[in-house]
Amino acid sequence: MMTRRQALKKTALATVACAAASTLRTAIAQPAPAATIPAAQTGPFTLPPLPYAYDALEPHIDAQTMRIHHDKHHAAYVANLNKALADWPEYRTRMYSGYVEQTLRALDSIPENIRTAVRNNLGGHYNHSLFWEMMKKDGGGEPKGEFAKAIETSFGNLADFKAKFTEAAMKVFGSGWAWFVLTPDKKLTIVSRPNQDSPITGTLEEARIEHPRTQILLGLDVWEHAYYLKYQNKRADYIAAWWNVVNWDFVAERYAKLKS
Ligand code: MN
Repeated sequence: MMTRRQALKKTALATVACAAASTLRTAIAQPAPAATIPAAQTGPFTLPPLPYAYDALEPHIDAQTMRIHHDKHHAAYVANLNKALADWPEYRTRMYSGYVEQTLRALDSIPENIRTAVRNNLGGHYNHSLFWEMMKKDGGGEPKGEFAKAIETSFGNLADFKAKFTEAAMKVFGSGWAWFVLTPDKKLTIVSRPNQDSPITGTLEEARIEHPRTQILLGLDVWEHAYYLKYQNKRADYIAAWWNVVNWDFVAERYAKLKS
């Protein structure tokens, strides 16, 4: 039986998880009323809380790495994004009001002198907000249902999918990400991108013609800051361990929503 203390703790954790999910939605997709947008220098973007404790992914990803990765690195992307947009209220409002993805898909619509800062820091904020949700305590295992069948159809089996994704992550030279995506013609594929780019990073022309609706299903951060404290130069060990914390339910939910 659950003690009162355990029950309270459980409720508190659920509340934190809900708040995190709702902050993510606000950061990524949900329109915000213009009146709530704070003054330029201090916002409007904020760091979403981790949806679990720092040590939730132990022993695969250590608490110290999670603390620095979230509290320092992700926080820096948010701070630098706000700083870059401080003198650009029109673009700030547009991005904060639910046009994050649209901005990343059409970066040439952003003034040239803040374009790189937006690419790196809005990209970093977006990628990390997703990345935290793509992992969970006691994750890993195998995906279920229709999504599992889709992986089998595209890759043969889960082991072959993981081998291909691992290979893409290993081949990233320097800092970057491996991505598992749903293409506009509803195919599942694996790509990698440097820095804080993702498969949705692009130009207006590309957004119109080439990849208007490419959607991210899963991403793996292979910047050294994501693993160096525990794994040093052994990126392969980090990737092997990371499979044990993948939140397949989150990925499958995205797939179900995006494929239609
Ligand atoms: Mn990172």
